Amino acid sequence: MSANGSIHERTYRWPDGKRSAAAFSIDFDGETPYLWRTRHAPSSAIAELEQRAFGPRQGIYRILEMLAHLEIRASVFIPGWIADKYPEAVEAIAAGGHEIGLHGYLHENVQALSTEEIEETIVQGKEAIERIIGPRPMGYRSPSWELTPQTIELLKRHGILYDSSLMGFDHPYWIDGLPEVPVQWLLDDAIYFRFFGGYAGPPPTNPQMVTDLWRQEFEGIKRFGGLFLLTVHSWLSGRGSRILALEKMLSKMREDPEIWWATCAEIAAYHSQHYVGQFHVSTKEWQHD
Ligand SMILES: [Zn+2]
Repeated sequence: MSANGSIHERTYRWPDGKRSAAAFSIDFDGETPYLWRTRHAPSSAIAELEQRAFGPRQGIYRILEMLAHLEIRASVFIPGWIADKYPEAVEAIAAGGHEIGLHGYLHENVQALSTEEIEETIVQGKEAIERIIGPRPMGYRSPSWELTPQTIELLKRHGILYDSSLMGFDHPYWIDGLPEVPVQWLLDDAIYFRFFGGYAGPPPTNPQMVTDLWRQEFEGIKRFGGLFLLTVHSWLSGRGSRILALEKMLSKMREDPEIWWATCAEIAAYHSQHYVGQFHVSTKEWQHD
């Protein structure tokens, strides 16, 4: 392990003596994962596109309203294609004081792309967002939470502030010198709610059960001093009963005085300032040739 030797003995220390941190993020995918998946086989089918477009049309506004009420500033990761198609939604997100970050152009899986193509998704994604909200430093969350060492190098070269796609710790760390604000599947709404017509799997999970699970993870992370980083998708969590359950859970969490609520950018900035050279991982660990 190339990480810092004292890694297992340490508790991550948060600002103001807080016990742990919490952040709310939105992966604002809309139609893009479908368009990327079907890029070589265009079809006249519209059902999944409509299902996903619910997010940018309605779901996002419900989530933004809930966040305003709870006084939570979110980190919203937006594919460039979504910014081009729904500029008014991006404006509403920015107007709410939320952080905006990159999420590819068409939700491309970086693993399937050449280095040049990955670079294009970063540049195009950034340009699309900046056309609406102006130039600014941004963080990155990779589509489908897949990442490659080449992508990390490109992010650094383009001045990207941090990545938020990996799960190697449950507090911030460094990956090849780039701050990592870690996600985890347990705290992603998609694994519980993603359901399409003709799908043979189980029905979507009861929202109350999902928020119970999240609440348990919140308590566990708090005990160990980690980061509770929740990720929702507006086409999934923007639905009625899910918004209600989410609001109920978050309003309880907001009452906890031991939690530092912050955006991913603020967490990355804190890590960069206070943890230079600590909790560092090199991707060479995973390269075998
Ligand atoms: Zn996504």
